[in-house]
Formats: sequence, C-alpha cells, structure tokens
Amino acid sequence: MATRKLLLLPGDGIGPEAMAEVKKLIEMMNADFNTGFQTEEGLVGGSAYDAHGQAISDADMEKAMAADAVLFGAVGGPKWDGVPYEVRPEAGLLRLRKDMELFANLRPAICYPALAASSSLKPDVVEGLDILIVRELTGGVYFGEPKEIIDLGNGQKRGIDTQVYDTFEIERISGVAFELARTRSNKVCSMEKHNVMKSGVLWKEVVAQTHKAKYSDVELTHMLADAGGMQLVRWPKQFDVIVTDNLFGDMLSDVAAMLTGSLGMLPSASLGAPDPKTGSRKALYEPVHGSAPDIAGKGIANPIAMIASFAMCLRYSFNMVEEADRLEKAIAGVLDDGLRTKDILSDGGTEVSTSQMGDAVVAKYKVLA
Ligand code: NAD
Repeated sequence: MATRKLLLLPGDGIGPEAMAEVKKLIEMMNADFNTGFQTEEGLVGGSAYDAHGQAISDADMEKAMAADAVLFGAVGGPKWDGVPYEVRPEAGLLRLRKDMELFANLRPAICYPALAASSSLKPDVVEGLDILIVRELTGGVYFGEPKEIIDLGNGQKRGIDTQVYDTFEIERISGVAFELARTRSNKVCSMEKHNVMKSGVLWKEVVAQTHKAKYSDVELTHMLADAGGMQLVRWPKQFDVIVTDNLFGDMLSDVAAMLTGSLGMLPSASLGAPDPKTGSRKALYEPVHGSAPDIAGKGIANPIAMIASFAMCLRYSFNMVEEADRLEKAIAGVLDDGLRTKDILSDGGTEVSTSQMGDAVVAKYKVLA
C-alpha cells in the first residue's frame, strides 16, 4: 500500500473545526479505500505561540519539510493582536511559504450551480464557472529591494517598493500554468502591464518564449492586468488558466474568488518546484478564509473551503485525480441536496452545522464511489 505523508496544521479559530471535517474524510478513505494516508499534527499561529513562543516551532517546520503535503487551517485572532511582530500568527504561514519555497499559488474560482444565485453577478455569467488563477508568490514588488521609506529632509518622505522579476521566476511560474492548462481546457491567459512597466515587458517576452519552447500545444493569450480585471467581472467564463505576478495575482484572485459567493467555499494551493530526482513538489493547501474569530467555537463554520483544499491536495500532490473529482462532485452533490451552512444559507436551503456538512460530504463521497 502506498504511504502518503500529510502534516495537518489546524491553527486557530475555525481552523481546527474545519480540519476536523477533513480528518473524517481521511479516516474514511483509509478505512474504505486503502488510501494509506499517514497524518501527523502540528501547531501554527497563535496556538504555536501559546505553546512555544513562536508562530511555528522548528520541530513542526521539520515535519512540514518531510511531509508529502501540508494541510493548513487558519491563523490569528484578537488574543494575539499584541504579540511581537516576528512571532505574530501570520509569521508561521510566511515561514512555511518561504522555507518550502512555495512560488506558485493556485486559486481556483468554481461556481457551483446550486450557488449561482448567491453571486453578486448574474447567474448566467457565473453558473458553471471554473477558472484557475496561478499567482507568482515569492517575487515581485512584495519582496524586491530597495523597500523602504526615506526621509527627504524637506518635510517630505518617500516610500519605495521595487517590482523585480528575473527570467527564471517567470519561466517556472508560466511552466506551472501551462502544465495545469493541459489538464483542463488547455488555455492560458498571461496578465501584466507591459505598456507601463519594464517587468511587464520581460514577463510577456519570457511567457511567450516558454510557450514556444515547450508548450505550443496550449493556447496562449496576453492581456493587460487592468483589462483582465474588467474581463473577469464582465465575462469570466472566457478564461481557463490565468497566470500573473504576485501583486496583480493578489488582487485578481480576490476578484475572481468573489464571483463565486462565500469566503467559506474557496480553497487554495501553494506549490514549490519539482524535485529533480523524484518529481514531487513541496506543497501546502489552505482555505482562502482566515480564522473567523467571530464564529469560532460555534460549530457553524463552513468546512467546504478546507475540504476543497484537500481535494486540491489529492489532485496536485498525489495525482489522485479520480478521488479529487469524486470529492468535488460530493461537495456539489450536498449543495444540490440543499444543505447549507449559515454563511451560504438562502431560501429553501436546510441549515446544517460544520460537522453535519462534513458528514454529508463523507457520505456523498461513499455513494459516488
Ligand atoms: P476571515 O476570513 O477570518 O473572516 C471574514 C468573515 O468571513 C467573517 O465574518 C467570518 O465569520 C466569515 N468567514 C470566514 N470563513 C468562514 C467560513 N469558513 N465559514 C463561515 N464564515 C466564514 O477574515 P478576517 O475577519 O479579516 O480575519 C480574522 C483573523 O484571521 C485575523 O486574525 C486575520 O489576521 C486572520 N487571517 C488569517 C488568514 C490565514 O490564516 N491564511 C487569512 C486571512 C485572515
């Protein structure tokens, strides 16, 4: 039996509640389908600070480096608002991303038919939407140097951030986008601002070269990132995979996410480079939402974002495509049945708790097998 090593980092607030529903799935899959998942658990965020005075301990960091994949819940909350900056809860997530060199952030925007009416756009614009934003995560203006505020000495200050990309960074992120497109509808749209930014000129050039050299079977288009933002809300179904830099990706992925309804529905994946020997990648999967302190402990959090993050883990870390498809169908199925946590409740829906939603997905998965 294959062994698949998972590190679970539930974190704070609703993180552990949502992770509990993924644990049910893992137990069921191991028992009924012999999937061989081996799980370890660690602390991250405020819970790690309370236990070790750090946002993630070195020991848990080692477990993350040794795992085939990391499942991350959420971190933060008012309890830790006053802790020193270097050990604030988010520092745990940033260390994981940095040490695991997770340069590719994947944010799918899928609109389940049963929820099309709850989007802020018209149902026919979003129903059946399935796009994937691939955002560069470790470079660009968030990390470029110089990054400072200088005193100009005349009563004025100057704030400086530097947008910088090297060829290899653009090659590897566009490679991820082209490869993912091949498993979907085979289309990539690259977004930058080559009309006003030198980094945009290089981005466009390198994406085109990478495409020509290795991925000419994939349909490639280029779009200015501002036009891309407009097109995402005008007719999002024109896109399959969008590849873009860190800054534009931050904004465009939030825009795309909101096309689909609640924050409680949105998964994400962050991937590193493939190991040259084994071909496997370091990877972390997490819901887009935070720790939601306002509803933590009430049993009403929507676990679907966390469960859908596990589906991404099956697909991208373990190549368990059938199982990932089945889990995504199970989510769509329970929504079709009218089950709703509070955040997505509308007329005619049946309100369920976090745990009831998780149980329903587990049961639906078994029926679909
Ligand atoms: P949030 O995502 O935690 O919550 C925003 C709103 O959405 C809240 O009203 C919350 O109740 C609701 N919500 C979020 N997830 C939900 C779910 N699964 N089911 C039902 N409702 C859900 O964002 P926030 O309120 O801005 O931040 C709260 C804390 O989380 C802060 O400490 C923040 O720093 C942290 N945070 C962490 C992450 C992360 O761990 N990756 C991301 C964002 C925010």
